[in-house]
Amino acid sequence: MDKLFDISGRIILVTGSSQGIGLSIARGFARNGAKVILNGRDPEKLQKVVCELKGEGYDVMGYAFDVTNQTMVIKTVDIIEQEVGPIGVLVNNAGIHRRAPFESLSLSDWQMVMDTNLTSAFIVSQAVARYMIKRRQGKIINITSLNAEAARPTIANYCSAKGGLKMLTKSLATELGKYNIQANAIGPGYIETELTAVLAADPEFDSWVKKEVPLGRWGKTEDLIGAAIFLASPASDYVNGHTLYVDGGWQASL
Ligand code: NAP
Repeated sequence: MDKLFDISGRIILVTGSSQGIGLSIARGFARNGAKVILNGRDPEKLQKVVCELKGEGYDVMGYAFDVTNQTMVIKTVDIIEQEVGPIGVLVNNAGIHRRAPFESLSLSDWQMVMDTNLTSAFIVSQAVARYMIKRRQGKIINITSLNAEAARPTIANYCSAKGGLKMLTKSLATELGKYNIQANAIGPGYIETELTAVLAADPEFDSWVKKEVPLGRWGKTEDLIGAAIFLASPASDYVNGHTLYVDGGWQASL
């Protein structure tokens, strides 16, 4: 059988995977034979999904930590490397929204989104890359957004962080390529999760999405799994610094 998309046995850490896109990607990896480490801040919520996935027969475990806390991240990555094994793939997925009109956006909401959506990827990637560099092998996948390319009102913090994450992806690709580490990104369009629930509940926004997206619908979290498997597998060994948009064709149309 062709092993091009084979991720079985790979140890994969997905940050922010106790719900939404991260959980779907984690489940997709596990279903395809990877050993998946789930993460979130809330240990109880995390434990619940880990039990759920174990009940489905998957090889998963959970490590609760805050991706913005460098000390905690370094300590936990060390523990994972010792307790579980070599992290072969890292998915920087944890992200939040703090929406407000630009003129009233607080510095704390700006900073919180920057820390969670951008600085965290620097912190976790650095902690994991130190091990990947020694092994001369690894893959880093950052979850950016359509908002890395196009802005919307009330999310200047989010757009700036995601634009930065796109460039961090290129920087990692440029600097770590010599160690046989590939860094790429997935840019989801509008996907139905808790993060976008307030938008999906707004009939005007909902019909705007359905009108603008050539495929005529919101994305489902499962729509991201194929791209994640591609970027985690040998099939993408010469793909480096790229953002793969999974947006129903939004960016392709005016
Ligand atoms: P979500 O449903 O709100 O889930 C966010 C996850 O991140 C949760 O598991 C949460 O768990 C975790 N998290 C948040 N802050 C964290 C922190 N500091 N440390 C560790 N974990 C943390 O969000 P989603 O919609 O699945 O989004 C996932 C990613 O996709 C985000 O980066 C988002 O920007 C991106 N994205 C989403 C969409 C969309 O339409 N939904 C579109 C484009 C991009 P805890 O609360 O327990 O920490």
